[in-house]
Amino acid sequence: MAKYEPILLKNMLQPGYRGLLEEYRAVGGYTAFEKVLKEISPAEVIEIVKKSGLRGRGGAGFPTGLKWSFIPKDYPGPRYLCCNADESEPGTFKDRQLIERDPHQMLEGIGIACHAIGSHQAYIYIRGEFDLGAEIIQRALNEAYAAKYFGKNIFGTGFDLEVVLHRGAGAYICGEETALLESIEGKRGKPRTKPPFPAIHGLYQEPTVVNNVETLANLPYIINRGADWYAAIGTPKSTGTRVFCVGGHVKRPGNYEVPMGISLREMIYDIAGGIRGDKQLKAVIPGGASAPFLKPEHLDTPMDFEAIKEVGSMLGSGGVTVMDESVCIVWAATNLMEFFHHESCGKCTPCREGSAWILQILRRIEGGLGRPEDIDQLIMLCGRIEGKTVCAFGEAEVGPILSTIKHFREEYEQHIREKHCPFRPNAKLVMAH
Ligand code: SF4
Repeated sequence: MAKYEPILLKNMLQPGYRGLLEEYRAVGGYTAFEKVLKEISPAEVIEIVKKSGLRGRGGAGFPTGLKWSFIPKDYPGPRYLCCNADESEPGTFKDRQLIERDPHQMLEGIGIACHAIGSHQAYIYIRGEFDLGAEIIQRALNEAYAAKYFGKNIFGTGFDLEVVLHRGAGAYICGEETALLESIEGKRGKPRTKPPFPAIHGLYQEPTVVNNVETLANLPYIINRGADWYAAIGTPKSTGTRVFCVGGHVKRPGNYEVPMGISLREMIYDIAGGIRGDKQLKAVIPGGASAPFLKPEHLDTPMDFEAIKEVGSMLGSGGVTVMDESVCIVWAATNLMEFFHHESCGKCTPCREGSAWILQILRRIEGGLGRPEDIDQLIMLCGRIEGKTVCAFGEAEVGPILSTIKHFREEYEQHIREKHCPFRPNAKLVMAH
């Protein structure tokens, strides 16, 4: 098995490392923040990050430096940075580990990003269920404030920065950046219609950047080791490493940090040890629950933004869910739709009503009461949602369903033809209602 040098997980892999400030400082922590404040102008930091090729690690993969450059340069009012720590995508658990095991690299990244965009106020929006993570971030913030890394006149440069931890109430949609902003403002977390984008009208209607935990955690290393070093890792358009969360039917589930562009095969069979019980692989979701399913024929696809998109899925949040031959695909699709229907914020009709309708049909098929026309009706309903909603949740909920029909249509037909689930004989009792 090839060995890869971790960047973000490196400290925490050292025996005894607990993520305390003194330990982080001992491995060079906060030197990048000091360097940018004393030696590198905001515009130069943005250029460095652009040159590094860093792309957002939350899901969309938008270039980070470019996102920062949308903040109006001479804006006279305040501007904000929000760290999106609302990791809620099923199958994704890497930000949680970064927060719990090495929180200062994210905090240092927040400092660097704030310098780049000229922000003096940052918010860390953390998922409501992350009790331990919130406790650890608050402890790390207290340490950083005590060491004067945050507050007034940081490193004697005259730069002020306040960082506030904001706890969500536990809603998937608050990971969508504009719903996150609404939530910080004390409103119900529902996405805003875009444009205007947050870079122009964000938090409290001021220019705002929202960056994911893993994205921000990369910044100290890019500053200290250089844009060229970072850009040389991974593939030309998907640079750096990625922390993939491998779960499901593998022998060694967990978070693995690898260069972008290694194959799905290497990830599943070498790094995660292969399929549990040495069964056959049936399907894999490569980027969190919103990513369309792939099949064994896609195993040699490089895990980078472009290649995964080319085969019809997306790298998304980095959650790789592996399913073996025992999994009923109709059940898997139903399970996902249960989640999406529950988490739909209800703002737009196609998503709110469509998800209920799709779920009803999926339950019917899985429960042995499917009708021959149901498959086409599912496709029609997905088409009525895709591209017709306020936020990307619409695409996220139908993409996986459509992919199961595309790759496993025969399995749907078998359920309908035989009037029961071939994998779960008692499904009728549970699913058909
Ligand atoms: Fe809410 Fe769904 Fe509309 Fe997004 S697509 S705004 S989650 S109802």
